[in-house]
Amino acid sequence: MVPVARWHVLGARAFLGVTLVVLVAGAVSDGRLDTAPRVVLAVLAVAAATFAVWALLRGLGRDGSERSVMLWPVAVVALMTVLNVVSPLTAHELPGLFTLAFLFVGLTQRPGTVWWCLLPALPPYLWILQISVDVSLVRIPVILAIWVLVAEVPARLLDMVRAQSEALSQLARTDPLTGLANRSRLDATLAALGPGDAVALLDLDHFKRFNDTHGHPAGDALLRDFAACLVTGTRRTDVVFRFGGEEFLLVLVGASLPDASALVEELASRWRTARAGETFSAGVVSAGGPDPVGAADALLYRAKREGRDRVVAEDGTDPGAAEASLPQGAGS
Ligand code: GH3
Ligand code: MG
Ligand code: MG
Repeated sequence: MVPVARWHVLGARAFLGVTLVVLVAGAVSDGRLDTAPRVVLAVLAVAAATFAVWALLRGLGRDGSERSVMLWPVAVVALMTVLNVVSPLTAHELPGLFTLAFLFVGLTQRPGTVWWCLLPALPPYLWILQISVDVSLVRIPVILAIWVLVAEVPARLLDMVRAQSEALSQLARTDPLTGLANRSRLDATLAALGPGDAVALLDLDHFKRFNDTHGHPAGDALLRDFAACLVTGTRRTDVVFRFGGEEFLLVLVGASLPDASALVEELASRWRTARAGETFSAGVVSAGGPDPVGAADALLYRAKREGRDRVVAEDGTDPGAAEASLPQGAGS
Protein backbone atom coordinates (compact mmCIF):
# COMPACT_ATOMS: atom_id res chain seq x y z
CA MET A 1 0.00 0.00 0.00
CA VAL A 2 1.04 3.61 -0.56
CA PRO A 3 2.66 4.97 2.62
CA VAL A 4 1.13 7.96 4.40
CA ALA A 5 3.87 10.38 3.33
CA ARG A 6 3.41 9.30 -0.29
CA TRP A 7 -0.35 9.87 -0.03
CA HIS A 8 0.41 13.29 1.34
CA VAL A 9 2.49 14.22 -1.69
CA LEU A 10 -0.07 12.71 -4.10
CA GLY A 11 -2.86 14.64 -2.35
CA ALA A 12 -0.88 17.87 -2.49
CA ARG A 13 -0.26 17.34 -6.20
CA ALA A 14 -3.94 16.69 -6.93
CA PHE A 15 -5.01 19.64 -4.78
CA LEU A 16 -2.63 22.08 -6.42
CA GLY A 17 -3.41 20.75 -9.89
CA VAL A 18 -7.16 21.22 -9.52
CA THR A 19 -6.67 24.67 -7.95
CA LEU A 20 -4.55 25.68 -10.90
CA VAL A 21 -7.13 24.51 -13.44
CA VAL A 22 -9.92 26.33 -11.57
CA LEU A 23 -7.81 29.46 -11.43
CA VAL A 24 -6.93 29.55 -15.12
CA ALA A 25 -10.45 28.58 -16.24
CA GLY A 26 -12.01 31.26 -14.01
CA ALA A 27 -9.57 33.96 -15.05
CA VAL A 28 -10.08 33.24 -18.73
CA SER A 29 -13.89 33.10 -18.44
CA ASP A 30 -14.25 36.42 -16.59
CA GLY A 31 -12.12 38.18 -19.18
CA ARG A 32 -9.48 39.49 -16.79
CA LEU A 33 -6.54 38.11 -18.71
CA ASP A 34 -7.14 40.33 -21.71
CA THR A 35 -3.61 41.64 -22.26
CA ALA A 36 -0.34 39.76 -22.65
CA PRO A 37 1.44 41.40 -19.64
CA ARG A 38 -1.51 40.49 -17.37
CA VAL A 39 -1.40 36.91 -18.55
CA VAL A 40 2.35 36.75 -17.83
CA LEU A 41 1.88 38.35 -14.40
CA ALA A 42 -0.97 36.02 -13.52
CA VAL A 43 0.98 32.93 -14.60
CA LEU A 44 4.02 34.06 -12.57
CA ALA A 45 1.89 34.77 -9.47
CA VAL A 46 0.15 31.41 -9.70
CA ALA A 47 3.41 29.57 -10.30
CA ALA A 48 5.06 31.28 -7.31
CA ALA A 49 2.12 30.58 -4.97
CA THR A 50 1.81 26.99 -6.19
CA PHE A 51 5.52 26.37 -5.74
CA ALA A 52 5.54 27.89 -2.24
CA VAL A 53 2.57 25.81 -1.10
CA TRP A 54 3.90 22.68 -2.78
CA ALA A 55 7.33 23.05 -1.16
CA LEU A 56 5.73 23.64 2.23
CA LEU A 57 3.47 20.59 1.97
CA ARG A 58 6.20 18.37 0.60
CA GLY A 59 8.77 19.32 3.22
CA LEU A 60 6.48 18.89 6.19
CA GLY A 61 4.52 15.97 4.81
CA ARG A 62 7.55 13.80 4.21
CA ASP A 63 7.28 11.99 7.54
CA GLY A 64 3.48 11.80 7.26
CA SER A 65 3.20 13.65 10.55
CA GLU A 66 -0.06 15.17 11.67
CA ARG A 67 1.57 18.56 12.14
CA SER A 68 1.61 19.10 8.41
CA VAL A 69 -2.15 18.84 8.14
CA MET A 70 -2.50 22.30 9.66
CA LEU A 71 -0.87 23.67 6.54
CA TRP A 72 -3.67 23.07 4.20
CA PRO A 73 -5.88 25.97 5.42
CA VAL A 74 -2.81 28.17 4.92
CA ALA A 75 -2.41 26.67 1.45
CA VAL A 76 -6.04 27.31 0.58
CA VAL A 77 -5.94 30.88 1.83
CA ALA A 78 -2.67 31.58 -0.04
CA LEU A 79 -4.07 30.24 -3.26
CA MET A 80 -7.40 31.99 -2.78
CA THR A 81 -5.62 35.29 -2.28
CA VAL A 82 -3.89 34.87 -5.63
CA LEU A 83 -7.18 33.70 -7.05
CA ASN A 84 -9.00 36.81 -5.84
CA VAL A 85 -6.39 39.08 -7.38
CA VAL A 86 -6.34 37.28 -10.69
CA SER A 87 -10.01 36.44 -10.91
CA PRO A 88 -12.57 37.30 -8.20
CA LEU A 89 -15.24 35.30 -9.99
CA THR A 90 -13.42 32.04 -9.39
CA ALA A 91 -13.78 32.55 -5.63
CA HIS A 92 -17.11 30.81 -6.16
CA GLU A 93 -15.15 27.61 -6.66
CA LEU A 94 -13.95 27.89 -3.09
CA PRO A 95 -16.37 25.35 -1.53
CA GLY A 96 -15.12 22.71 -3.96
CA LEU A 97 -11.49 23.51 -3.19
CA PHE A 98 -12.07 23.43 0.56
CA THR A 99 -13.84 20.08 0.27
CA LEU A 100 -10.96 18.79 -1.82
CA ALA A 101 -8.53 19.96 0.86
CA PHE A 102 -10.50 18.06 3.52
CA LEU A 103 -10.44 14.97 1.33
CA PHE A 104 -6.69 15.45 1.16
CA VAL A 105 -6.60 15.49 4.98
CA GLY A 106 -8.55 12.22 5.03
CA LEU A 107 -6.19 10.54 2.57
CA THR A 108 -3.03 11.58 4.36
CA GLN A 109 -3.77 11.70 8.07
CA ARG A 110 -5.02 9.53 10.91
CA PRO A 111 -8.74 9.46 11.82
CA GLY A 112 -9.77 12.32 14.09
CA THR A 113 -7.25 14.83 12.71
CA VAL A 114 -10.04 16.60 10.83
CA TRP A 115 -11.28 18.19 14.07
CA TRP A 116 -8.08 20.23 14.29
CA CYS A 117 -8.69 21.67 10.81
CA LEU A 118 -12.26 22.84 11.25
CA LEU A 119 -11.60 25.99 13.27
CA PRO A 120 -8.81 27.48 11.15
CA ALA A 121 -10.72 26.61 7.97
CA LEU A 122 -14.04 28.20 8.81
CA PRO A 123 -13.07 31.93 9.14
CA PRO A 124 -11.25 32.14 5.77
CA TYR A 125 -14.07 30.21 4.16
CA LEU A 126 -16.74 32.63 5.44
CA TRP A 127 -14.55 35.68 4.85
CA ILE A 128 -13.54 34.99 1.26
CA LEU A 129 -17.05 33.95 0.22
CA GLN A 130 -18.46 36.87 2.25
CA ILE A 131 -21.23 34.79 3.76
CA SER A 132 -23.48 36.78 6.10
CA VAL A 133 -24.15 35.66 9.68
CA ASP A 134 -27.81 34.72 9.20
CA VAL A 135 -27.00 32.58 6.16
CA SER A 136 -23.97 31.07 7.88
CA LEU A 137 -26.10 29.85 10.80
CA VAL A 138 -27.73 27.40 8.42
CA ARG A 139 -24.68 26.86 6.30
CA ILE A 140 -22.01 26.27 8.95
CA PRO A 141 -23.37 22.96 10.32
CA VAL A 142 -23.92 21.61 6.80
CA ILE A 143 -20.44 22.63 5.68
CA LEU A 144 -18.86 21.22 8.84
CA ALA A 145 -20.70 17.91 8.37
CA ILE A 146 -19.50 17.64 4.75
CA TRP A 147 -15.89 18.42 5.70
CA VAL A 148 -15.90 15.91 8.55
CA LEU A 149 -17.42 13.24 6.33
CA VAL A 150 -15.03 13.61 3.39
CA ALA A 151 -12.03 13.57 5.73
CA GLU A 152 -13.08 10.91 8.25
CA VAL A 153 -14.34 8.22 5.87
CA PRO A 154 -11.11 7.79 3.85
CA ALA A 155 -8.98 8.26 6.99
CA ARG A 156 -10.83 5.42 8.74
CA LEU A 157 -10.78 3.16 5.69
CA LEU A 158 -7.05 3.70 5.21
CA ASP A 159 -6.46 3.10 8.91
CA MET A 160 -8.27 -0.24 8.66
CA VAL A 161 -6.19 -1.24 5.64
CA ARG A 162 -3.03 -0.17 7.47
CA ALA A 163 -3.96 -2.21 10.55
CA GLN A 164 -4.76 -5.26 8.42
CA SER A 165 -1.51 -5.08 6.50
CA GLU A 166 0.39 -4.70 9.80
CA ALA A 167 -1.43 -7.78 11.15
CA LEU A 168 -0.59 -9.72 7.99
CA SER A 169 3.09 -8.84 8.10
CA GLN A 170 3.15 -9.76 11.80
CA LEU A 171 1.60 -13.11 10.86
CA ALA A 172 4.21 -13.69 8.17
CA ARG A 173 6.97 -13.19 10.76
CA THR A 174 5.44 -15.49 13.37
CA ASP A 175 5.38 -19.26 13.65
CA PRO A 176 1.69 -20.21 13.84
CA LEU A 177 2.19 -23.26 16.09
CA THR A 178 4.25 -21.69 18.86
CA GLY A 179 3.72 -17.95 18.36
CA LEU A 180 7.50 -17.48 18.31
CA ALA A 181 9.39 -15.45 15.74
CA ASN A 182 10.16 -17.50 12.65
CA ARG A 183 13.31 -17.45 10.54
CA SER A 184 12.20 -14.46 8.45
CA ARG A 185 13.37 -12.11 11.24
CA LEU A 186 16.58 -13.98 11.89
CA ASP A 187 18.95 -12.29 9.44
CA ALA A 188 18.24 -8.81 10.77
CA THR A 189 18.63 -10.01 14.37
CA LEU A 190 21.90 -11.82 13.66
CA ALA A 191 23.34 -8.85 11.78
CA ALA A 192 23.05 -6.75 14.94
CA LEU A 193 25.01 -9.21 17.12
CA GLY A 194 28.61 -8.86 18.30
CA PRO A 195 31.18 -10.73 20.42
CA GLY A 196 29.34 -9.69 23.61
CA ASP A 197 26.25 -11.69 22.57
CA ALA A 198 25.61 -15.41 22.29
CA VAL A 199 23.62 -17.79 20.12
CA ALA A 200 22.27 -21.22 21.13
CA LEU A 201 20.71 -23.85 18.91
CA LEU A 202 18.46 -26.34 20.70
CA ASP A 203 17.01 -29.56 19.28
CA LEU A 204 14.57 -31.89 21.02
CA ASP A 205 15.95 -35.38 21.49
CA HIS A 206 14.19 -38.29 19.77
CA PHE A 207 11.23 -36.17 18.83
CA LYS A 208 10.32 -38.42 15.94
CA ARG A 209 9.95 -41.26 18.43
CA PHE A 210 7.67 -39.07 20.57
CA ASN A 211 5.49 -38.33 17.54
CA ASP A 212 5.37 -42.01 16.59
CA THR A 213 4.42 -43.04 20.13
CA HIS A 214 1.95 -40.30 21.11
CA GLY A 215 0.74 -38.99 17.77
CA HIS A 216 1.32 -35.76 15.86
CA PRO A 217 -1.14 -33.60 17.86
CA ALA A 218 0.65 -34.56 21.09
CA GLY A 219 3.93 -33.67 19.32
CA ASP A 220 2.49 -30.26 18.48
CA ALA A 221 1.50 -29.75 22.11
CA LEU A 222 5.01 -30.69 23.18
CA LEU A 223 6.48 -28.13 20.80
CA ARG A 224 4.16 -25.46 22.21
CA ASP A 225 5.14 -26.38 25.77
CA PHE A 226 8.80 -26.29 24.84
CA ALA A 227 8.42 -22.86 23.25
CA ALA A 228 6.66 -21.58 26.39
CA CYS A 229 9.41 -23.07 28.57
CA LEU A 230 12.06 -21.26 26.49
CA VAL A 231 10.24 -17.94 26.62
CA THR A 232 9.66 -18.05 30.38
CA GLY A 233 13.21 -19.28 31.02
CA THR A 234 14.99 -16.55 29.04
CA ARG A 235 15.39 -12.86 29.72
CA ARG A 236 13.29 -10.06 28.25
CA THR A 237 16.12 -9.02 25.96
CA ASP A 238 16.61 -12.52 24.53
CA VAL A 239 14.87 -13.59 21.33
CA VAL A 240 13.55 -17.11 20.83
CA PHE A 241 13.11 -18.30 17.23
CA ARG A 242 11.52 -21.48 15.95
CA PHE A 243 14.37 -22.36 13.65
CA GLY A 244 12.93 -25.50 12.08
CA GLY A 245 10.64 -28.43 13.02
CA GLU A 246 11.88 -29.21 16.55
CA GLU A 247 14.86 -26.86 16.52
CA PHE A 248 14.88 -23.55 18.34
CA LEU A 249 17.39 -20.74 18.20
CA LEU A 250 18.10 -18.46 21.13
CA VAL A 251 19.69 -15.07 20.57
CA LEU A 252 21.08 -14.08 23.95
CA VAL A 253 21.88 -10.40 23.80
CA GLY A 254 24.70 -9.19 26.05
CA ALA A 255 25.44 -12.70 27.34
CA SER A 256 29.02 -13.97 27.73
CA LEU A 257 29.65 -17.58 26.76
CA PRO A 258 29.63 -18.83 30.40
CA ASP A 259 26.41 -16.86 31.12
CA ALA A 260 24.79 -18.21 27.96
CA SER A 261 25.67 -21.84 28.66
CA ALA A 262 24.51 -21.48 32.29
CA LEU A 263 21.21 -20.11 31.00
CA VAL A 264 20.77 -23.02 28.56
CA GLU A 265 21.67 -25.55 31.30
CA GLU A 266 18.99 -23.92 33.45
CA LEU A 267 16.53 -24.31 30.56
CA ALA A 268 17.43 -28.00 30.33
CA SER A 269 16.58 -28.58 33.96
CA ARG A 270 13.33 -26.56 33.60
CA TRP A 271 12.36 -28.70 30.61
CA ARG A 272 13.10 -31.93 32.48
CA THR A 273 10.82 -30.69 35.28
CA ALA A 274 8.09 -29.55 32.87
CA ARG A 275 8.07 -32.76 30.81
CA ALA A 276 9.50 -35.74 32.62
CA GLY A 277 11.59 -37.89 30.32
CA GLU A 278 11.92 -35.24 27.59
CA THR A 279 15.30 -33.71 26.88
CA PHE A 280 17.08 -31.55 24.37
CA SER A 281 20.61 -31.09 23.11
CA ALA A 282 22.18 -27.69 22.48
CA GLY A 283 25.17 -25.96 20.96
CA VAL A 284 26.11 -22.55 22.39
CA VAL A 285 28.57 -20.06 20.88
CA SER A 286 29.46 -16.45 21.38
CA ALA A 287 28.25 -14.42 18.41
CA GLY A 288 31.42 -12.69 17.27
CA GLY A 289 32.31 -15.19 14.54
CA PRO A 290 31.32 -15.02 10.88
CA ASP A 291 28.66 -17.75 11.12
CA PRO A 292 27.43 -18.16 14.70
CA VAL A 293 24.44 -20.29 13.68
CA GLY A 294 26.66 -22.69 11.71
CA ALA A 295 29.06 -22.88 14.66
CA ALA A 296 26.20 -23.57 17.09
CA ASP A 297 24.86 -26.24 14.70
CA ALA A 298 28.27 -27.96 14.67
CA LEU A 299 28.29 -28.02 18.48
CA LEU A 300 24.70 -29.30 18.54
CA TYR A 301 25.79 -32.15 16.31
CA ARG A 302 28.58 -32.90 18.76
CA ALA A 303 26.08 -32.92 21.65
CA LYS A 304 23.91 -35.42 19.75
CA ARG A 305 26.89 -37.56 18.90
CA GLU A 306 28.10 -37.60 22.52
CA GLY A 307 24.81 -39.04 23.71
CA ARG A 308 22.19 -36.22 23.63
CA ASP A 309 20.67 -34.43 26.66
CA ARG A 310 23.62 -32.08 26.98
CA VAL A 311 24.83 -28.55 26.29
CA VAL A 312 28.09 -28.03 24.39
CA ALA A 313 29.56 -24.53 24.50
CA GLU A 314 32.59 -23.06 22.79
CA ASP A 315 33.82 -19.69 21.78
CA GLY A 316 32.65 -19.29 18.19
CA THR A 317 35.06 -16.38 17.68
CA ASP A 318 37.94 -18.88 17.87
CA PRO A 319 38.11 -20.42 14.37
CA GLY A 320 39.41 -23.76 15.66
CA ALA A 321 36.97 -24.09 18.50
CA ALA A 322 33.59 -24.75 16.95
CA GLU A 323 34.44 -27.83 14.94
CA ALA A 324 34.09 -25.95 11.70
CA SER A 325 35.02 -29.09 9.81
CA LEU A 326 31.90 -30.97 10.92
CA PRO A 327 29.03 -31.21 8.37
CA GLN A 328 26.52 -28.33 8.64
CA GLY A 329 22.88 -29.09 9.45
CA ALA A 330 23.93 -32.24 11.28
CA GLY A 331 21.84 -31.42 14.33
CA SER A 332 18.54 -31.64 12.40
P1 GH3 B 1 17.41 -36.36 17.31
O1 GH3 B 1 17.45 -36.68 18.75
O2 GH3 B 1 18.60 -36.88 16.57
O3 GH3 B 1 17.18 -34.90 17.06
O4 GH3 B 1 16.16 -37.15 16.70
P2 GH3 B 1 14.76 -36.57 16.33
O5 GH3 B 1 13.80 -37.69 16.20
O6 GH3 B 1 14.38 -35.49 17.28
O7 GH3 B 1 15.05 -35.88 14.93
P3 GH3 B 1 14.52 -36.20 13.51
O8 GH3 B 1 15.12 -35.13 12.62
O9 GH3 B 1 14.78 -37.62 13.13
O10 GH3 B 1 12.96 -36.00 13.57
C1 GH3 B 1 12.38 -34.77 13.76
C2 GH3 B 1 10.90 -34.95 13.78
O11 GH3 B 1 10.21 -33.74 14.07
C3 GH3 B 1 10.34 -35.45 12.47
C4 GH3 B 1 9.16 -34.54 12.19
O12 GH3 B 1 8.00 -35.27 11.82
C5 GH3 B 1 8.93 -33.85 13.49
N1 GH3 B 1 8.33 -32.54 13.34
C6 GH3 B 1 8.84 -31.48 12.67
N2 GH3 B 1 7.99 -30.43 12.75
C7 GH3 B 1 6.93 -30.86 13.49
C8 GH3 B 1 5.71 -30.21 13.91
O13 GH3 B 1 5.45 -29.05 13.63
N3 GH3 B 1 4.85 -30.95 14.65
C9 GH3 B 1 5.12 -32.26 14.98
N4 GH3 B 1 4.24 -32.90 15.74
N5 GH3 B 1 6.23 -32.88 14.59
C10 GH3 B 1 7.13 -32.20 13.84
MG1 MG C 1 15.56 -33.72 17.30
MG1 MG D 1 16.17 -31.65 14.32
